[in-house]
Amino acid sequence: MADLPALVKCLVWDLDNTMWHGVLLEDPDVRLTDEIRTVISTLDSRGVLQSIASKNDYDLAWQRLEQLGLAEYFVVPKIGWGRKSDSVRQIAEHLRFALSTVAFIDDQPSERAEVVFHVPEVRCYTAEQAVLLTAMPEFSPDVVTVDARGRRQMYQASFRRDAAREGFAGPDEEFLRSLDLVMTIKRADGEDLSRVEELTLRTSQMNATGVHYPDTVLRGLLTDRGHEVLTVALTDRFGPHGAVGVMLLEYHPGVWHLKLLATSCRVVSFGAGAVILNWLIDQAARAGAHLAADFRPTSRNRMMDIAYRFAGFIEESCGCLSRLGPAVGRDDIQCLHLIAKRRDAPTTMRLVSPDLAAEGADQMAPAGSD
Ligand SMILES: [Zn+2]
Repeated sequence: MADLPALVKCLVWDLDNTMWHGVLLEDPDVRLTDEIRTVISTLDSRGVLQSIASKNDYDLAWQRLEQLGLAEYFVVPKIGWGRKSDSVRQIAEHLRFALSTVAFIDDQPSERAEVVFHVPEVRCYTAEQAVLLTAMPEFSPDVVTVDARGRRQMYQASFRRDAAREGFAGPDEEFLRSLDLVMTIKRADGEDLSRVEELTLRTSQMNATGVHYPDTVLRGLLTDRGHEVLTVALTDRFGPHGAVGVMLLEYHPGVWHLKLLATSCRVVSFGAGAVILNWLIDQAARAGAHLAADFRPTSRNRMMDIAYRFAGFIEESCGCLSRLGPAVGRDDIQCLHLIAKRRDAPTTMRLVSPDLAAEGADQMAPAGSD
């Protein structure tokens, strides 16, 4: 088999005779085994989200889940009398997950068949397989990052945030200010890198270069004085957004080369890309350096294209570009350029960041006779 099974990002549970033993409407004391409880908490700790598609009375079922101490584990549950394929599809849409990353477990062959018929991309499992899930490769990510362990809480915070946004009558910028957003840009360490790896894999939409830098390459650059590997995290009063961005910067005399900038699509609406670019431009301006940025337009990174153009990057020739080194393997990548000028601090969030202009100064001094 050429293709390993893709990781499941969300498992959708049936309740009666799948998660618990018995039928709730006939027996209010349906039982949950320790094995199933362990499966649920293990998947949660691995960053696999879990939801519910059950034909049941909503209040009754949710009350039982709370009694069992399980309610907190499930996001966007669908408990009612509709078709399960519709529930699964709605869950995927709400989470913005591809259907191929969603799994469904149900004891009823007819329910599994209904889901397979209408949403064939969804992987289905029998109730007997429930206790085996944690041993299956599609439920076993190689690396469990800090963000993965807190993924469910991050989604729950985002739902509370979305609800607050819907109920907010004022202008968008005012809402952003009400969130008490704090963006933290920091030099990556070993632990950050696995989160970065996940981010660059997950966020092709906002990966400006369209070039994937593997974990090992970035790890090798951590101690390279000519490079900066920077991560971006965002928090607000609803909780953490987690790692939302990564930058790879190479210093040359008089010019900084932005080789990678990826941001999570989760934070596009916060203007994170523009804030990061403005911060970098201001740093370069203070260091007296020009900026060059790799960019490969794809069908999915249009938002980043706009962010670059809006920040002032254009295709133009400049003597500094000859210092970037050979463009081996970068034939299809545009090199954008900008003469950095000081920028104002963002008005919608507080920024915590290293001072590259001061700390990186020795790395940018013209080398030798250049
Ligand atoms: Zn230049």
